[in-house]
Amino acid sequence: MSSRAVRPEATPAARPATAAASRTSRGRRGALAERNPSRRAAVTPARPVVLLKSAAPFRLASRESHPESTIVAAGDVSIGGGTLVVMAGPCSIESRQQIRETARRVKAAGADMLRGGAYKPRTSPYDFQGLGRKALEWLAEAGRETGLPVVTEVLSPEDVELVSEHADLLQVGARNMQNYALLRRLATVTKPVLLKRGPSATIQEWLLAAEYLLSGGNLQVVLCERGIRTFETATRNTLDLAGVALVKQLTHLPVIVDPSHGTGKRALVAPASRAAAAIGADGLLIEVHPCPGRALSDGEQSLDPGEFAALMRTLRPRPFAARA
Ligand code: PEP
Ligand code: MN
Repeated sequence: MSSRAVRPEATPAARPATAAASRTSRGRRGALAERNPSRRAAVTPARPVVLLKSAAPFRLASRESHPESTIVAAGDVSIGGGTLVVMAGPCSIESRQQIRETARRVKAAGADMLRGGAYKPRTSPYDFQGLGRKALEWLAEAGRETGLPVVTEVLSPEDVELVSEHADLLQVGARNMQNYALLRRLATVTKPVLLKRGPSATIQEWLLAAEYLLSGGNLQVVLCERGIRTFETATRNTLDLAGVALVKQLTHLPVIVDPSHGTGKRALVAPASRAAAAIGADGLLIEVHPCPGRALSDGEQSLDPGEFAALMRTLRPRPFAARA
């Protein structure tokens, strides 16, 4: 949010003037002061610069315009309603059996939604690009079998219709955060959108990207912090958790955290998940693979089902009575 430094209209005494104007002004003031001596005291030095808080440029996303938190419905799951929503599944859908098994395991561990990529945005054109339409169908099937709503990425405007038919939540990946043709198309669908923060996007750019969806008519928007690029290379990205807390204050939209891409390291996913929950995230997007060592993408940051179940127990300890 920006503030403008505003210097109030300078008083006649403070305004620089040409010699002639200055004479005229002095003459007029002098005449006024003679007629009304109290006017002399009114001619004071310029007032100091004052800071006026200007309205946020992301008008519809801003909490000023909409103080109550928005709750987004993805299938029968509410995001932003005060409980931590956990979305879990593989980076890429690799086979029918892989996504069905993952769905069953993450559901058993307590996940609320199933994730899986059918269209993959890969840095290298030589890397696995996803299995497309058939993977979408397997994802939808695995979601139906387990009762988990599904989230998957849509890469281009031409795929929006097809992906909307199969997914409950449409993911805009980090690389596409400022793909305005895609955002404009997604603004017209009836499915909610998960908008990831771009790797080099400022918070304002991220919220203005959300504004494309909102102003185009889609009010069902969930934001996802997934790490940004900094000088640090020890982690894949730098997870901006303070940014999550800030965005929760600036906007009314739910904000979730992706600790998998945010750290790039399996051993950091659990602590980053707990930190995200502690700072007020509305949910988590976690990569889980039945055998991370054999994953076709992002295996090094994927949990296996046992590790995911262990994390879930620390995120949602069962009530004391139920544990006995
Ligand atoms: C993903 O969720 O698998 C993904 C590609 O994420 P991001 O767009 O954040 O890199
Ligand atoms: Mn991934």
